[in-house]
Amino acid sequence: MSTYVLVAGNAGVSELVAAAAKLDGPVVAVVVGADEVVRAVAAPGVDKIVWLGDPGDRAVEAFAADVAKVVAADPGVVFAGRKPAERALLGAVAAAISAPVVTMPVEIAAGQVTRAIAGGIASETRSYAGPVAIVSDGGAPLTGGGSTSVEQAAASPAEVTVTDLRPNEVAAADLGTADRVVSVGRGLKAKEDLAIIEALATAFKAELGCSRPVAEGLDWVARDRYVGISGQQISPQVYLAVGISGQLQHMSGCRGAQLIVSINTDKDAPIVAESDYILTGDLYTLVPALTAALG
Ligand SMILES: Cc1cc2nc3c(=O)[nH]c(=O)nc-3n(C[C@H](O)[C@H](O)[C@H](O)COP(=O)(O)OP(=O)(O)OC[C@H]3O[C@@H](n4cnc5c(N)ncnc54)[C@H](O)[C@@H]3O)c2cc1C
Repeated sequence: MSTYVLVAGNAGVSELVAAAAKLDGPVVAVVVGADEVVRAVAAPGVDKIVWLGDPGDRAVEAFAADVAKVVAADPGVVFAGRKPAERALLGAVAAAISAPVVTMPVEIAAGQVTRAIAGGIASETRSYAGPVAIVSDGGAPLTGGGSTSVEQAAASPAEVTVTDLRPNEVAAADLGTADRVVSVGRGLKAKEDLAIIEALATAFKAELGCSRPVAEGLDWVARDRYVGISGQQISPQVYLAVGISGQLQHMSGCRGAQLIVSINTDKDAPIVAESDYILTGDLYTLVPALTAALG
Protein backbone atom coordinates (compact mmCIF):
# COMPACT_ATOMS: atom_id res chain seq x y z
CA MET A 1 0.00 0.00 0.00
CA SER A 2 1.41 3.38 -1.03
CA THR A 3 1.43 6.60 0.99
CA TYR A 4 0.51 9.66 -1.09
CA VAL A 5 1.53 13.31 -1.06
CA LEU A 6 -0.66 15.57 -3.19
CA VAL A 7 1.19 18.32 -5.06
CA ALA A 8 -1.09 21.12 -6.23
CA GLY A 9 1.03 23.32 -8.47
CA ASN A 10 3.90 23.98 -6.04
CA ALA A 11 6.72 21.90 -4.60
CA GLY A 12 6.32 23.12 -1.00
CA VAL A 13 5.75 19.64 0.42
CA SER A 14 9.00 18.77 2.25
CA GLU A 15 7.27 18.33 5.62
CA LEU A 16 4.61 16.11 4.09
CA VAL A 17 7.20 13.91 2.38
CA ALA A 18 9.14 13.59 5.65
CA ALA A 19 5.94 12.52 7.46
CA ALA A 20 4.94 10.12 4.68
CA ALA A 21 8.40 8.51 4.66
CA LYS A 22 7.90 7.42 8.29
CA LEU A 23 4.94 5.23 7.30
CA ASP A 24 5.08 1.85 5.60
CA GLY A 25 5.09 1.58 1.83
CA PRO A 26 6.50 3.69 -0.98
CA VAL A 27 5.89 7.46 -1.04
CA VAL A 28 4.03 8.46 -4.19
CA ALA A 29 3.68 12.15 -5.11
CA VAL A 30 0.61 12.82 -7.24
CA VAL A 31 1.52 16.00 -9.10
CA VAL A 32 -0.60 18.55 -10.90
CA GLY A 33 1.96 21.12 -11.99
CA ALA A 34 4.46 22.40 -14.50
CA ASP A 35 7.69 20.59 -15.53
CA GLU A 36 9.74 22.47 -12.96
CA VAL A 37 7.43 21.33 -10.16
CA VAL A 38 7.91 17.70 -11.26
CA ARG A 39 11.70 18.19 -11.34
CA ALA A 40 11.65 19.70 -7.82
CA VAL A 41 9.44 16.96 -6.39
CA ALA A 42 11.79 14.27 -7.80
CA ALA A 43 13.68 14.46 -4.52
CA PRO A 44 15.06 12.00 -1.95
CA GLY A 45 12.17 10.47 0.01
CA VAL A 46 9.81 10.47 -2.98
CA ASP A 47 9.81 6.99 -4.52
CA LYS A 48 7.50 7.66 -7.43
CA ILE A 49 5.74 10.56 -9.12
CA VAL A 50 2.42 10.19 -10.88
CA TRP A 51 2.20 13.29 -13.07
CA LEU A 52 -1.23 14.37 -14.23
CA GLY A 53 0.10 17.26 -16.30
CA ASP A 54 0.58 21.00 -16.30
CA PRO A 55 -2.70 22.80 -15.53
CA GLY A 56 -1.65 25.83 -17.62
CA ASP A 57 -4.62 28.24 -17.48
CA ARG A 58 -6.81 25.68 -15.78
CA ALA A 59 -7.36 25.76 -12.03
CA VAL A 60 -5.47 22.93 -10.27
CA GLU A 61 -8.82 21.94 -8.72
CA ALA A 62 -10.01 20.92 -12.19
CA PHE A 63 -7.84 17.79 -11.76
CA ALA A 64 -9.51 16.73 -8.49
CA ALA A 65 -11.30 13.71 -9.99
CA ASP A 66 -8.09 12.58 -11.74
CA VAL A 67 -6.09 12.80 -8.52
CA ALA A 68 -8.80 10.87 -6.68
CA LYS A 69 -8.72 8.15 -9.36
CA VAL A 70 -4.95 7.64 -8.93
CA VAL A 71 -5.25 7.17 -5.16
CA ALA A 72 -8.45 5.10 -5.36
CA ALA A 73 -6.59 2.47 -7.45
CA ASP A 74 -4.49 1.60 -4.37
CA PRO A 75 -5.85 3.55 -1.36
CA GLY A 76 -3.42 4.51 1.40
CA VAL A 77 -2.69 7.37 3.78
CA VAL A 78 -2.85 10.68 1.87
CA PHE A 79 -1.15 13.94 2.83
CA ALA A 80 -1.86 17.45 1.52
CA GLY A 81 -0.92 20.98 2.57
CA ARG A 82 -3.23 23.67 3.87
CA LYS A 83 -3.49 25.85 0.76
CA PRO A 84 -6.98 26.01 -0.82
CA ALA A 85 -6.10 23.98 -3.95
CA GLU A 86 -4.32 21.34 -1.84
CA ARG A 87 -7.34 21.00 0.42
CA ALA A 88 -9.68 20.78 -2.57
CA LEU A 89 -7.69 17.88 -4.02
CA LEU A 90 -7.53 16.15 -0.65
CA GLY A 91 -11.29 16.50 -0.20
CA ALA A 92 -11.93 14.83 -3.55
CA VAL A 93 -9.56 11.99 -2.67
CA ALA A 94 -11.09 11.51 0.80
CA ALA A 95 -14.58 11.30 -0.70
CA ALA A 96 -13.46 8.83 -3.37
CA ILE A 97 -11.81 6.43 -0.91
CA SER A 98 -14.19 7.09 2.03
CA ALA A 99 -11.28 8.24 4.21
CA PRO A 100 -11.75 10.45 7.28
CA VAL A 101 -9.97 13.82 7.08
CA VAL A 102 -7.64 14.70 9.97
CA THR A 103 -6.51 18.26 10.68
CA MET A 104 -3.86 19.63 13.05
CA PRO A 105 -1.77 16.45 13.32
CA VAL A 106 1.12 16.52 15.77
CA GLU A 107 2.25 12.91 15.48
CA ILE A 108 1.52 10.37 12.79
CA ALA A 109 2.18 6.64 12.97
CA ALA A 110 0.79 3.65 11.07
CA GLY A 111 -2.93 3.44 11.90
CA GLN A 112 -2.74 6.21 14.47
CA VAL A 113 -2.77 10.02 14.45
CA THR A 114 -2.40 12.37 17.41
CA ARG A 115 -3.93 15.77 16.72
CA ALA A 116 -4.14 19.07 18.56
CA ILE A 117 -7.54 19.99 19.96
CA ALA A 118 -9.06 22.85 21.99
CA GLY A 119 -6.80 25.46 20.45
CA GLY A 120 -3.69 23.37 20.99
CA ILE A 121 -3.93 23.06 24.77
CA ALA A 122 -4.72 19.35 24.49
CA SER A 123 -4.29 16.52 22.06
CA GLU A 124 -6.24 13.41 21.17
CA THR A 125 -5.02 10.20 19.60
CA ARG A 126 -7.21 8.37 17.13
CA SER A 127 -6.66 5.02 15.55
CA TYR A 128 -7.72 4.14 12.02
CA ALA A 129 -8.42 0.81 10.42
CA GLY A 130 -8.17 2.11 6.83
CA PRO A 131 -6.77 5.00 4.82
CA VAL A 132 -6.86 8.49 6.25
CA ALA A 133 -6.50 11.93 4.62
CA ILE A 134 -4.24 14.30 6.54
CA VAL A 135 -4.01 18.10 6.17
CA SER A 136 -0.78 19.54 7.53
CA ASP A 137 1.96 22.13 6.93
CA GLY A 138 3.46 21.61 3.48
CA GLY A 139 6.92 22.84 4.45
CA ALA A 140 9.74 24.26 2.34
CA PRO A 141 9.87 23.47 -1.40
CA LEU A 142 11.65 20.30 -2.46
CA THR A 143 14.60 20.87 -4.76
CA GLY A 144 14.99 17.65 -6.75
CA GLY A 145 18.11 15.48 -6.67
CA GLY A 146 16.36 12.15 -6.13
CA SER A 147 16.22 9.06 -8.32
CA THR A 148 12.42 9.21 -8.47
CA SER A 149 10.60 7.52 -11.33
CA VAL A 150 7.98 9.62 -13.11
CA GLU A 151 4.84 8.06 -14.56
CA GLN A 152 2.72 10.31 -16.75
CA ALA A 153 -0.97 9.48 -16.21
CA ALA A 154 -3.90 10.41 -18.40
CA ALA A 155 -6.11 13.20 -17.07
CA SER A 156 -9.52 14.55 -18.05
CA PRO A 157 -9.60 17.84 -16.16
CA ALA A 158 -12.90 19.63 -15.72
CA GLU A 159 -13.41 22.82 -17.74
CA VAL A 160 -12.35 25.21 -14.98
CA THR A 161 -10.21 27.99 -16.44
CA VAL A 162 -8.63 30.88 -14.61
CA THR A 163 -9.84 33.89 -16.61
CA ASP A 164 -8.51 36.70 -14.44
CA LEU A 165 -5.97 37.04 -11.67
CA ARG A 166 -5.41 40.29 -9.79
CA PRO A 167 -4.45 41.39 -6.30
CA ASN A 168 -7.23 42.37 -3.96
CA GLU A 169 -7.63 46.13 -3.87
CA VAL A 170 -7.77 46.01 -0.08
CA ALA A 171 -4.18 44.69 0.08
CA ALA A 172 -4.78 41.17 1.36
CA ALA A 173 -2.09 39.56 3.48
CA ASP A 174 0.06 36.89 1.90
CA LEU A 175 1.85 35.67 4.98
CA GLY A 176 1.82 32.08 3.72
CA THR A 177 4.33 32.73 0.94
CA ALA A 178 6.35 35.49 2.64
CA ASP A 179 10.03 34.74 3.30
CA ARG A 180 10.08 37.14 6.23
CA VAL A 181 7.35 38.10 8.69
CA VAL A 182 7.57 40.75 11.42
CA SER A 183 4.80 40.08 13.92
CA VAL A 184 3.64 42.31 16.75
CA GLY A 185 1.87 41.46 19.98
CA ARG A 186 0.37 43.10 23.03
CA GLY A 187 3.77 44.44 24.02
CA LEU A 188 2.77 47.36 21.78
CA LYS A 189 1.03 50.01 23.84
CA ALA A 190 -1.00 51.96 21.28
CA LYS A 191 -2.30 51.62 17.74
CA GLU A 192 -0.32 54.71 16.64
CA ASP A 193 2.87 52.87 17.63
CA LEU A 194 2.23 50.35 14.85
CA ALA A 195 4.16 52.80 12.67
CA ILE A 196 7.47 51.69 14.19
CA ILE A 197 6.64 48.01 13.54
CA GLU A 198 5.59 48.79 9.96
CA ALA A 199 8.85 50.70 9.44
CA LEU A 200 10.80 47.66 10.65
CA ALA A 201 8.80 45.37 8.36
CA THR A 202 9.52 47.66 5.40
CA ALA A 203 13.25 47.87 6.18
CA PHE A 204 13.37 44.08 6.57
CA LYS A 205 11.29 43.55 3.39
CA ALA A 206 8.86 41.55 5.48
CA GLU A 207 5.09 41.08 5.70
CA LEU A 208 3.39 42.37 8.83
CA GLY A 209 1.82 39.77 11.12
CA CYS A 210 0.50 39.87 14.68
CA SER A 211 -0.82 37.85 17.59
CA ARG A 212 -4.55 37.22 17.78
CA PRO A 213 -5.45 39.84 20.40
CA VAL A 214 -3.88 42.56 18.24
CA ALA A 215 -6.24 41.60 15.40
CA GLU A 216 -9.24 40.36 17.34
CA GLY A 217 -10.03 42.53 20.30
CA LEU A 218 -7.73 45.48 19.80
CA ASP A 219 -8.51 45.43 16.05
CA TRP A 220 -5.26 47.24 15.20
CA VAL A 221 -4.29 44.89 12.37
CA ALA A 222 -6.49 43.08 9.81
CA ARG A 223 -7.68 39.66 10.93
CA ASP A 224 -6.06 37.84 8.00
CA ARG A 225 -2.68 38.80 9.48
CA TYR A 226 -2.78 37.06 12.81
CA VAL A 227 -0.62 34.00 13.25
CA GLY A 228 -1.57 30.93 15.22
CA ILE A 229 -3.69 27.88 15.53
CA SER A 230 -6.85 29.75 14.62
CA GLY A 231 -5.11 32.17 12.25
CA GLN A 232 -2.37 31.90 9.64
CA GLN A 233 -0.03 28.89 9.77
CA ILE A 234 3.22 30.05 8.25
CA SER A 235 6.73 28.77 7.56
CA PRO A 236 8.82 31.81 6.60
CA GLN A 237 12.61 31.86 6.51
CA VAL A 238 12.61 34.38 9.36
CA TYR A 239 9.89 35.13 11.91
CA LEU A 240 10.58 38.21 14.01
CA ALA A 241 8.19 38.35 16.97
CA VAL A 242 7.98 41.72 18.70
CA GLY A 243 6.27 41.96 22.10
CA ILE A 244 4.66 38.53 21.72
CA SER A 245 4.69 36.17 24.73
CA GLY A 246 4.64 32.99 22.61
CA GLN A 247 1.64 31.12 23.96
CA LEU A 248 1.09 27.67 22.50
CA GLN A 249 -1.80 28.89 20.32
CA HIS A 250 0.46 31.49 18.72
CA MET A 251 3.54 29.32 18.32
CA SER A 252 1.66 26.54 16.55
CA GLY A 253 1.21 28.97 13.68
CA CYS A 254 4.90 29.92 13.28
CA ARG A 255 6.94 26.93 14.49
CA GLY A 256 7.61 26.04 10.88
CA ALA A 257 9.79 29.16 10.53
CA GLN A 258 13.42 28.38 9.76
CA LEU A 259 14.60 31.07 12.18
CA ILE A 260 12.69 32.70 15.05
CA VAL A 261 13.92 35.98 16.50
CA SER A 262 12.10 37.53 19.45
CA ILE A 263 12.11 40.95 21.06
CA ASN A 264 10.71 40.90 24.59
CA THR A 265 11.25 42.64 27.91
CA ASP A 266 10.68 39.35 29.72
CA LYS A 267 13.64 36.99 29.43
CA ASP A 268 11.40 34.18 30.70
CA ALA A 269 8.58 34.66 28.17
CA PRO A 270 7.65 31.30 26.57
CA ILE A 271 8.78 32.52 23.14
CA VAL A 272 12.36 32.87 24.39
CA ALA A 273 12.73 29.09 24.69
CA GLU A 274 11.64 28.71 21.05
CA SER A 275 13.78 31.52 19.62
CA ASP A 276 17.05 31.15 17.75
CA TYR A 277 17.98 34.76 18.59
CA ILE A 278 16.65 36.72 21.56
CA LEU A 279 16.75 40.48 21.99
CA THR A 280 15.82 41.16 25.61
CA GLY A 281 14.62 44.71 26.08
CA ASP A 282 12.02 47.34 25.32
CA LEU A 283 10.65 47.18 21.80
CA TYR A 284 10.36 50.97 21.79
CA THR A 285 14.17 51.14 21.92
CA LEU A 286 15.12 47.98 20.04
CA VAL A 287 12.75 48.24 17.06
CA PRO A 288 13.84 51.74 15.90
CA ALA A 289 17.50 50.75 16.43
CA LEU A 290 17.04 47.60 14.34
CA THR A 291 15.20 49.52 11.63
CA ALA A 292 17.99 52.08 11.47
CA ALA A 293 20.62 49.33 11.30
CA LEU A 294 18.74 47.56 8.48
CA GLY A 295 18.14 50.80 6.64
C1 LIG B 1 -8.84 28.55 21.52
C2 LIG B 1 -7.81 29.62 21.46
C3 LIG B 1 -7.23 29.91 20.25
C4 LIG B 1 -6.26 30.91 20.15
N1 LIG B 1 -5.67 31.15 18.94
C5 LIG B 1 -4.68 32.05 18.87
C6 LIG B 1 -4.00 32.28 17.64
O1 LIG B 1 -4.29 31.67 16.61
N2 LIG B 1 -2.99 33.19 17.61
C7 LIG B 1 -2.61 33.90 18.73
O2 LIG B 1 -1.68 34.71 18.63
N3 LIG B 1 -3.24 33.69 19.90
C8 LIG B 1 -4.26 32.81 20.01
N4 LIG B 1 -4.89 32.63 21.19
C9 LIG B 1 -4.54 33.55 22.30
C10 LIG B 1 -3.27 33.13 23.03
O3 LIG B 1 -3.59 32.19 24.02
C11 LIG B 1 -2.60 34.32 23.72
O4 LIG B 1 -3.52 34.94 24.59
C12 LIG B 1 -2.08 35.38 22.73
O5 LIG B 1 -1.29 34.76 21.73
C13 LIG B 1 -1.23 36.40 23.48
O6 LIG B 1 -0.89 37.43 22.61
P1 LIG B 1 0.40 38.31 22.88
O7 LIG B 1 1.61 37.44 22.96
O8 LIG B 1 0.39 39.43 21.89
O9 LIG B 1 0.07 38.99 24.30
P2 LIG B 1 0.67 38.70 25.72
O10 LIG B 1 0.55 37.29 26.10
O11 LIG B 1 0.01 39.70 26.63
O12 LIG B 1 2.21 39.03 25.59
C14 LIG B 1 2.75 40.31 25.42
C15 LIG B 1 4.26 40.16 25.50
O13 LIG B 1 4.85 41.42 25.25
C16 LIG B 1 5.96 41.60 26.13
N5 LIG B 1 6.16 43.05 26.30
C17 LIG B 1 5.41 43.94 27.01
N6 LIG B 1 5.90 45.17 26.87
C18 LIG B 1 6.96 45.08 26.03
C19 LIG B 1 7.88 46.03 25.49
N7 LIG B 1 7.77 47.33 25.75
N8 LIG B 1 8.86 45.57 24.69
C20 LIG B 1 8.99 44.26 24.41
N9 LIG B 1 8.15 43.31 24.89
C21 LIG B 1 7.15 43.73 25.68
C22 LIG B 1 5.53 40.91 27.42
O14 LIG B 1 6.67 40.53 28.18
C23 LIG B 1 4.76 39.69 26.87
O15 LIG B 1 5.63 38.58 26.69
C24 LIG B 1 -5.86 31.64 21.31
C25 LIG B 1 -6.45 31.35 22.54
C26 LIG B 1 -7.40 30.35 22.61
C27 LIG B 1 -8.01 30.03 23.95
